[in-house]
Amino acid sequence: MKFAAFNVQGASRVAVVDESRHEARFIEPFCDDMALLIGRSSRDLAELSLGSPVPLADLTFAPPLRPARNIFCVGKNYREHAREFNQSGFDSTSAGAAADVDKFAAIFTKPPTSLLGHRELINSHSDVTSQLDYEAELAVVIGKSGKRISRAHALDYVWGYSIINDVTARDLPRDHRQWFMGKSLDTFCPMGPWVTTADEVGNGDFTVKCWVNDELRQNASTRDLIFDIPSLIETLSAGIGLRPGDIIATGTPAGVGIGFKPPRFLKVGDRVDIEISGLGRLENGVGPVSGAKP
Ligand code: MG
Repeated sequence: MKFAAFNVQGASRVAVVDESRHEARFIEPFCDDMALLIGRSSRDLAELSLGSPVPLADLTFAPPLRPARNIFCVGKNYREHAREFNQSGFDSTSAGAAADVDKFAAIFTKPPTSLLGHRELINSHSDVTSQLDYEAELAVVIGKSGKRISRAHALDYVWGYSIINDVTARDLPRDHRQWFMGKSLDTFCPMGPWVTTADEVGNGDFTVKCWVNDELRQNASTRDLIFDIPSLIETLSAGIGLRPGDIIATGTPAGVGIGFKPPRFLKVGDRVDIEISGLGRLENGVGPVSGAKP
């Protein structure tokens, strides 16, 4: 099943999406938080009471989830991207001497305040950064609590999958010594359009594609992840208890703006579209301010 959240009269409201019919049906009674559905069985979810179908074109998307804590993110998790990142000179964490493939996963976070819905505008923050970049990523939504989860059982903890654009200001980590500032500005975490439950899409490989203004920039398979999803869940949960509704952004493939010479940064008026097989297409324009539909 696919669950999305929409802005309805100032509130976020959760609905079930029928992608092939381009319509959604709101959950009855009013459900304002997808976290309330996480952990329910597939049978329970299939028996939810739903309103009449509404065309997706008439609805305004919100971020599907409002997690209680930061989104876990992974850096340099595809070989080709790790190479382009090291060669770009933008890796402020390594003084330029890092190996293309690190021994341990590089993990950082983005605050939930950076989340943005499908078709909302990414704020260019041109007063803060002149190096705005995109990163198409597969996102994992955790379905149940767990600590010290082994690789063998890790996928039992995955409730669903979605798409995240890990928008990044490349100049801020250089100035502020960590990735956090460059990853966390308001609107820097477009997510959606919806979350697809793992039982619908399976736990196999996904194809990740990203276009900037209709030009294909990223095209990879999650088969090429250096640290795969079970490994990330095992690593995170070793010392941080995972909770239902936690989100893990699994890293971006090669083809980001700093991979080009000279780099190709985003500017106001650009549009970034990300498609992941079985999960839909996340579209966001870049604007001088956030919020309004492009
Ligand atoms: Mg990233």
